Amino acid sequence: MKRYSAFAIAREALRHHTGWERAWRKATPKKKYDVVIVGAGGHGLATAYYLGKNHGIKNVAILEKGWLGGGNTGRNTTIIRSNYLQDPSAAIYEKARSLYETMSQDLNYNVMFSPRGVMMLAQTHHEVRGYERTAHANSLQGVETQFIGPEKVKELCPIIRLDGPRYPVLGALYQPRGGTARHDAVAWGYARACSDMGMDIIQQCEVTAVRSDAGKVRGVTTTMGDIDCDKLAIVVAGNSGVLADMAGFRLPIESVALQALVSEPIKPAMDVVIMANTVHGYMSQSDKGEMVIGGGTDGYNNYTQRGSFHHVEETVRALIETFPMLSRLKMLRQWGGIVDITGDRSPIISKTPLGGCFINCGWGTGGFKAIPGSGWATAEMIAQGAPGPLASAFGLERFREGRFIDESVAAGVAH
Ligand SMILES: Cc1cc2nc3c(=O)[nH]c(=O)nc-3n(C[C@H](O)[C@H](O)[C@H](O)COP(=O)(O)OP(=O)(O)OC[C@H]3O[C@@H](n4cnc5c(N)ncnc54)[C@H](O)[C@@H]3O)c2cc1C
Repeated sequence: MKRYSAFAIAREALRHHTGWERAWRKATPKKKYDVVIVGAGGHGLATAYYLGKNHGIKNVAILEKGWLGGGNTGRNTTIIRSNYLQDPSAAIYEKARSLYETMSQDLNYNVMFSPRGVMMLAQTHHEVRGYERTAHANSLQGVETQFIGPEKVKELCPIIRLDGPRYPVLGALYQPRGGTARHDAVAWGYARACSDMGMDIIQQCEVTAVRSDAGKVRGVTTTMGDIDCDKLAIVVAGNSGVLADMAGFRLPIESVALQALVSEPIKPAMDVVIMANTVHGYMSQSDKGEMVIGGGTDGYNNYTQRGSFHHVEETVRALIETFPMLSRLKMLRQWGGIVDITGDRSPIISKTPLGGCFINCGWGTGGFKAIPGSGWATAEMIAQGAPGPLASAFGLERFREGRFIDESVAAGVAH
């Protein structure tokens, strides 16, 4: 793989950009791999990358039924933060956030990580108490956050209205090193690095069955034929229940649509990320100038990647109360993704009842921020055959044992 650099751009400019190579190889499946990963979203690709980088396992295939990054990874609103309440969550999300800081250099791919600061607005007294508690927990966990008052919120975000009719702004949980990154670039950067290590990324290849023998995984059946493997990782977000069914076990997960929308581009108006959880809305401004807005989840299970209209209407109506200037903007596009939600709003990184089969899912409405940490932890679990310190609390057995990692305050809404 040729390195991307300022020098390379100048060289290619001189020869009319004829020397760029494909970012990743087009691969056809081999008969057998050491590890097969189902799902070329951010989590599947990051898992493959850290398998190669940290554990030297490179005979890996990543199978994708559509196009790489075309699932939730390419559909989210790109918010990155690590201000969760419980210790295991803070550990994995902060690991991920810190990996984002150096991801562009690590992958030699500009993922446009922008630590512009994230504010989670407190708009009820209940939220003030909840976020003050989280700020205290974060200081014990070594995660840099603070609870700030309304004046500081206004200073950081002048377009906000503090005395909205329904929900005045009473303060915010502020993480100065939270922010955003370019979601496609995260998927493309990992894919390029995986391909460079000799891994096969196979698109348009849907897994239709999981094959096993005597309680141990043997391989998968795909639309491109059978592929054998020693270890299988299922990393398919909203389709996790479908794949688990193929592998012969059930998951405590619900799949629902979550949607987002963007406005027409405007001049720079807001250089922080805002989450307003009481009204289920969150917003940042993209580098192109569009206001990127996310809403709540549909109230019923489904697999449509669209979402229902009334949620868009509710989200925009609620956000206009806090950001009156939004009422003057035209909305350009709306889209949805299928998110995988667990009862405690925490992910699953786990061995499964089928030997050699591992699962990574349950990131729900907030897994983009976790991609590097999740990939790191899942690769460690696959390489060692059991979860390491980052993943051990997130096993499937916690639902049987009632050992929940309750993140309903930090993650109970969409983001
Ligand atoms: C509208 C929206 C906004 C969001 N906003 C944020 C945010 O601001 N911050 C944040 O942290 N998170 C956010 N999220 C959540 C985040 O996008 C997801 O948690 C994360 O992207 C999940 O990544 P993944 O790799 O697990 O799944 P995906 O990116 O969905 O990848 C899974 C892949 O598996 C493939 N697949 C499925 N079935 C099969 C099969 N049978 N065979 C082969 N391949 C298969 C799919 O095609 C897909 O490409 C948002 C999500 C949505 C929908």
